[in-house]
Amino acid sequence: METSVGEQYEQVRDLVVSFCKKKIAPGAAKRDQSAEFPSGILHEMGELGLFGIFVPEELGGAGMDLMTYLMIIEEIAKVDASIAVTISVTNSVCGWPLLHFGTREQQERYLRPIASGEELGGFMLTEPEAGSDAASLKTRYRDVGDAFILNGTKAWITNAGVAKTFVCMATKDPSLGAHGISAFILDADQEGVIFDKPEEKMGLRSSKTGMVTLDNVRVPKSALLGREGQGFSIALATLDHSRLGIAAQAVGIARGALEEALRYARDRRQFGRPLYDHQAIGFRLAEMDTEIAAARALLQEAARAAMTPRRHSRESARAKLFASEMCNRVVASAIQIHGGYGYSKEYAIERMYRDARVTTVYEGTSEVQKIVISRALKQAAESL
Ligand SMILES: Cc1cc2nc3c(=O)[nH]c(=O)nc-3n(C[C@H](O)[C@H](O)[C@H](O)COP(=O)(O)OP(=O)(O)OC[C@H]3O[C@@H](n4cnc5c(N)ncnc54)[C@H](O)[C@@H]3O)c2cc1C
Repeated sequence: METSVGEQYEQVRDLVVSFCKKKIAPGAAKRDQSAEFPSGILHEMGELGLFGIFVPEELGGAGMDLMTYLMIIEEIAKVDASIAVTISVTNSVCGWPLLHFGTREQQERYLRPIASGEELGGFMLTEPEAGSDAASLKTRYRDVGDAFILNGTKAWITNAGVAKTFVCMATKDPSLGAHGISAFILDADQEGVIFDKPEEKMGLRSSKTGMVTLDNVRVPKSALLGREGQGFSIALATLDHSRLGIAAQAVGIARGALEEALRYARDRRQFGRPLYDHQAIGFRLAEMDTEIAAARALLQEAARAAMTPRRHSRESARAKLFASEMCNRVVASAIQIHGGYGYSKEYAIERMYRDARVTTVYEGTSEVQKIVISRALKQAAESL
């Protein structure tokens, strides 16, 4: 994200852009085809501090701010959205709740290895029958004195099989609804945590996503995150934060698509001149550029709100809604500018088109973002 920030921000951007160019971009198409998980690249990214971007240095993190985090996700997504989501999930839906709701002991034990780049993290909320209606989840926990026992199935879990630590939501009793849900810190190596084979996805193919079965998993009492019954509000606060990362990912993919379209419109000639010189194409590019700038402005507004102590659900939902829908419009335009060649795997835009699609779906669909915004508006209407 471009914003009025200091020298450190610019230095980090230079470092990340150079890393993306040298290490991430060259193999992105191949990894997409083979669905290969980029362990080596991620190892280097961990060493650069990119697993704990906003975790304070005393906990092993990079100690950077939210604006820097969003810029990093945007730059990575511009070249490889799969790596962007792997990093974003580790930082936001896992690192953020551990940082904000974890005790010092929990942070030392679970957050430090993530923040210092040794391990990836993940978040287990969704279930086969509980997606948008996450409060209806059925994974159960029961208190057995010295521990909790978890049983259930989680679906669509990013970093399943590659992350070590997950924040996992489970209910004491589904009839209690949101109030029955608690958050647990789950170690992937615990007995009874069973990862299914990764999903065969349309896009983000080199990120890992899968189903997880929890079969009598014994979680120590010390791994309860926050208070019993606080899990759903931890999940909502986490999503308010993490949706900013998905909006940044969407802006990054769209920027990548605009660059591909510009390059193609410059080089491809029809009717005796470059495509760019046909006004319809130039106007389409102008609209793409404007839409990206508008999404980034909304994202910056939401990020500023997130840096205050007040709740920012409406701002985050607006940024995620607009940026993800914008991203899909922009990549579709970029395909159109490529003509038939946009339909070929030879061009990066084909991968970007598939990667973009999920941004309106995960971490709350566009419809869910509209529910969040319209609820906030209804509340605001009460005080008019
Ligand atoms: C690649 C990928 C990675 C993911 N990673 C994670 C992860 O790490 N952790 C995790 O917990 N989850 C993850 N998810 C799950 C994701 O958050 C859910 O897929 C998403 O929340 C939607 O849930 P659903 O798929 O069950 O769709 P559903 O909730 O069944 O929705 C289907 C459709 O109905 C619409 N709909 C539902 N309810 C309403 C309503 N009240 N009003 C209007 N429309 C409605 C939805 O918007 C959608 O269009 C991931 C998903 C994908 C695809």
